[in-house]
Amino acid sequence: MSEQKMPMIGIPRAMLYYRYGPLWERFFQVLGVSTLLSPPSSRGILEAGARLAPDESCLSLKMLMGHVETLIGRCNCIFIPRYSNYGYTELFCTRYEGIYDQARNIFRSSGQRFITCNIDAQNGFPEAKAFEQFGVELGFTAKESRRAWREASRALEQRKKAEDRSQKELAGKPGIKVLAAGHSYILSDPYLGKPILDNLDAAGVVTLRADALEPETARKACARFSPTCRWIVSEEIVGGVLLWKEKADGIILVSAFPCGPDSMTNELLIRRIRGVPILTLVLDAQSGMAGIETRIESFLDIIRFQKGAMV
Ligand code: SF4
Repeated sequence: MSEQKMPMIGIPRAMLYYRYGPLWERFFQVLGVSTLLSPPSSRGILEAGARLAPDESCLSLKMLMGHVETLIGRCNCIFIPRYSNYGYTELFCTRYEGIYDQARNIFRSSGQRFITCNIDAQNGFPEAKAFEQFGVELGFTAKESRRAWREASRALEQRKKAEDRSQKELAGKPGIKVLAAGHSYILSDPYLGKPILDNLDAAGVVTLRADALEPETARKACARFSPTCRWIVSEEIVGGVLLWKEKADGIILVSAFPCGPDSMTNELLIRRIRGVPILTLVLDAQSGMAGIETRIESFLDIIRFQKGAMV
C-alpha cells in the first residue's frame, strides 16, 4: 500500500473495544496503519453520548457515541465494526449490528468518514474472511490482510489466556471472594464498572470476573445450563458465572440499562443459582456511585455474616 493512501484510523474506546481491542489494534499495526484511541470514559463523554444517541439506546451505546464524538475531526476515518453473528446459533446483540449506521447518521453533518468490517458468518463472512475483505477495502492485498488477521487473532488469544491464568491465581487467594459478572465494556470501563471493582478492592475483597475466561470453555458451560441461549457474549458471561460460582462467596451482576440480553440471562441466573447471595446492579446515565457503594457495603455485610465473620 502506498504511503499517501494510509489513513489514521480512530477507534472508540467503548463497547466491543473491550472485547476485541487487542485484535483490532494488532490488525492495523501489522498493516502499518496508525490508530487513535479515544480517551478513557468520563462523565463528560457519557453526557455527550446520552445527548446524541436515541433515547431508547442502552447505556453502553450512549457511551460509545460519546467516544465517537471525541474522535470527530481528529482522524481520517472512525472504525466501527458490525458484529452480527458467528453462525446460525451464535448471535451478537442486535445493537452491535446497528452502531455503524447509527454513528454515520448521528454525525452525518460532520463530514467525518466511517469504516466498518462486517462479521456475518450466516451470509458468508466469518471473522477471518470479513477482516480479509476489510483489509482489501483499505487497499492491502488479500495475502497481507490474511497475515494481519492471523497475527491479530493470536494477540487476542494470548490476552484471553493471560486473563484466564490471572483469574486462576486470584481464585487461589485467601479471603472473601466476589464474582463480578457483566459485559467487559461495562466492568472494565473506567467510568461505569471500574469504580465498582475499585470499591470491592478497597473493601479487601478478591474480585473474580465472569468474563475473564477462555470463550469456548465458557460457552460450553452455558450450553449445558441453557441450550437455547443464543447471544455469544451472554453465553460467555453465564458460562463464566457457572464455572466460577463455587469459588465465590457472592455474585454481583452488573448490567447497563436497558439491556435486553442481560434482563433475560440475569433473571435465569437469579432463579437457578442456589446457595450464593446475588446482588444486581443496573447502571444508567444518572447512576451515581453513592447509592451503589451503600448497596455493595450491605451485600458484603451479608457475606461476612454468612461466613461467621460478623455477629
Ligand atoms: S448487550 Fe446489552 S448493553 Fe450490550 S449493546 Fe446489547 S443491549 Fe446494550
